[in-house]
Amino acid sequence: MEFINLKGQYLCLKEDIDRAISEVLLQSNFIMGPQVMELEEKLASYVGRKYCITCGNGTDALVLSLLAHGIGEGDVVFLPTFTYFATGEAVSRVGAKPVFVDSDLETYNIDTDDMALAIEEVVRKGENTPKAVIAVDLFGLPANYPEICKIANKYGLLVIEDGAQGFGGTIEGKKACSFGDISTTSFFPAKPLGCYGDGGAIFTDDKDIKDILESLRVHGKGENKYDNVRIGMNSRLDTIQAAILLVKLKAFQEYELAKRQEIAEWYNKELNEMVDIPDIPKGYTSSYAQYTIQLPDSSRRDKTANYLKERGVPTAIYYKKCLHQQEAYMDMIDVSRNLGKAEKMAGGVLSLPMSAYIENNELQDITVAIKNFVINTYNSK
Ligand SMILES: *Cc1c(COP(=O)(O)O)cnc(C)c1O
Repeated sequence: MEFINLKGQYLCLKEDIDRAISEVLLQSNFIMGPQVMELEEKLASYVGRKYCITCGNGTDALVLSLLAHGIGEGDVVFLPTFTYFATGEAVSRVGAKPVFVDSDLETYNIDTDDMALAIEEVVRKGENTPKAVIAVDLFGLPANYPEICKIANKYGLLVIEDGAQGFGGTIEGKKACSFGDISTTSFFPAKPLGCYGDGGAIFTDDKDIKDILESLRVHGKGENKYDNVRIGMNSRLDTIQAAILLVKLKAFQEYELAKRQEIAEWYNKELNEMVDIPDIPKGYTSSYAQYTIQLPDSSRRDKTANYLKERGVPTAIYYKKCLHQQEAYMDMIDVSRNLGKAEKMAGGVLSLPMSAYIENNELQDITVAIKNFVINTYNSK
């Protein structure tokens, strides 16, 4: 059994993907071929933003977004501590200071009360300028943007949506990667919409920001890439990856997203009595980048994972450490804030196999194994 069945997806889409790749090989326009522009139009229209700017990966998408808004030295950016390292790394990479915020135990996303406290604290100290919030759509569920934007507005902060895992999720029918001022996503193969290597994209409604981003991703180009008007990066999406994504986006829209929901519903129904299942607030949908359950503590989590492994069920732990617990941040940040809920989650989370290509018998095996383990070992949640 695969944790994410990428091979099953390829075999299903093989004919179209092989054709798309060989078209690029025959055209030999490997950088910024027409498939890149076609994909950008389709992605922008899918998420409901005016502009999409593709780039090299989801981390660069965050770095480029911060650069485009002039965020750097002396600025503070607030973000959840329970996220993938790249969210914080992008902030540090541009020279700004990350301030880590606790997460909500039900949704796994940024705790908005703690976010307000963290902002107040930075304002009170007055050493650095609060500039932006990066909210993360963890495991596929959009963060609480109505509340995040309200708080950010009060303090004049930019809202960046890290939609690396959120692509496909919604709030009241509005799609992920359209929330806040600017949104980013990743096409890393394991994400809800993945390519066959690294890839990423940025979404904005602001024409000036779009122009700056198009310059930044090609060495700060002006008229052309030999006319350089700012310090940029080299971060473009390969034409081959764009061609693959055009095929995969179609499958994602036509059936994959719906299939992921179906699988999550099956898990919900079968596991509800046994373990803490993901909590999707009313009006929200998740693209289930991960289907993540919570066990009461790390010993129980690790025992569950081992039991499943012995029965051929792969699982993963996203994330064993919060950002404030990472060695890279040890000497750089003030860890005096209480981030206890995020720490508890890091101890208890366990992600189960998820993709649109899981077979029914595999689902059966997974849920039976979890039930047997819980009933035999603990008798309850
Ligand atoms: C994957 C991921 C990223 C980074 O994307 P890459 O394409 O791997 O650089 C950023 N933020 C989150 C939340 C992610 O899951």
